Amino acid sequence: MKKIFIPLLAISLLLSCVTTQVNNEVNKEKQNPKEIGFLSAFKEIKLEDLKQNLTVIASDEMEGRDTGSRGQKKAGEYMIRFYKNLGISFPKSLGSYYQKVPASYMQQKGGSNLPDSENILAFIEGSEKPEEIIVISAHYDHVGTQNNVVYNGADDDGSGTVAVMQIAKAFQTAKKAGNGPKRSILFLHVTGEEHGLFGSEYYSDHPVFPLGNTVADLNIDMIGRDDPENRGKNYVYVIGSEMLSSQLKTIIEEANIKINNLELNYKYDDPNDPEKLYYRSDHYNFAKHNIPVAFFFDGIHEDYHEPTDDVEKIDFPLLQKRTQLIFATAWELANRKERIVVDKK
Ligand SMILES: [Zn+2]
Repeated sequence: MKKIFIPLLAISLLLSCVTTQVNNEVNKEKQNPKEIGFLSAFKEIKLEDLKQNLTVIASDEMEGRDTGSRGQKKAGEYMIRFYKNLGISFPKSLGSYYQKVPASYMQQKGGSNLPDSENILAFIEGSEKPEEIIVISAHYDHVGTQNNVVYNGADDDGSGTVAVMQIAKAFQTAKKAGNGPKRSILFLHVTGEEHGLFGSEYYSDHPVFPLGNTVADLNIDMIGRDDPENRGKNYVYVIGSEMLSSQLKTIIEEANIKINNLELNYKYDDPNDPEKLYYRSDHYNFAKHNIPVAFFFDGIHEDYHEPTDDVEKIDFPLLQKRTQLIFATAWELANRKERIVVDKK
């Protein structure tokens, strides 16, 4: 009897344990369907997808994606096919995924001899506050081909490009499951960054949605590598998140605790830092219009602006974790009750 009794007791304990767990899950679901929606969308930030897209975006076929070049246009067509296949459209008023950035505009800003180029915009409309916009941006141009050597720009900024695409996929998955974002999200792939942030400046001069309704810009420029100071660490530099809103940094930190718990490095988070990174990527063209920004960045490494910035050197698990952090931040910005405040100048 005893011999049987003990396993029976164990089984009944185990069963009650399993039942409690399942009940907890069910209760959780009843209590917080949004949270369940978040978790299933979060799973869409898949390493294999990031790798598949970056292998194309940073391939020799794209010829280093110089502004207005044939290779950049090919990369743009690939991105648009990706959005079309997912059923993610463009802002209605634009009539297509393209916002033309004319050669004359770039010339006037000091970018001589650049041909016409395009920003690429994909858009998911919010369910409750569609007029309020969260921008997630990354530049898809790079420095092209020099002396027959292709500068593939896998990290700069192929990594940001595929992160934006994957975040869009995750939001679209949530939307299809009835958990679409309350605010609208603009996935903004800008051109002309390497020549002087022209695509984002053009957007901010010719905004598709009023800048006053633009809640925040999360800008991604190089998130697929590590720098010598942080070799092997799970980290990301976050820049600018405290400059205009007292809330954005906290939201990023809470999102980070909820998921991967990366080390958030604020070394460059100072407009007076000698590297002046606050001014050096596309978020600045939103910040100068008093729109809160956060810039996600991996640091200056040995392949920065070298022909060796290749897909083989990308740390995909790290790229995935950083993309997940930015997705979780965007999720909160898009779904929280009140839009974040601008309370600093
Ligand atoms: Zn860049």
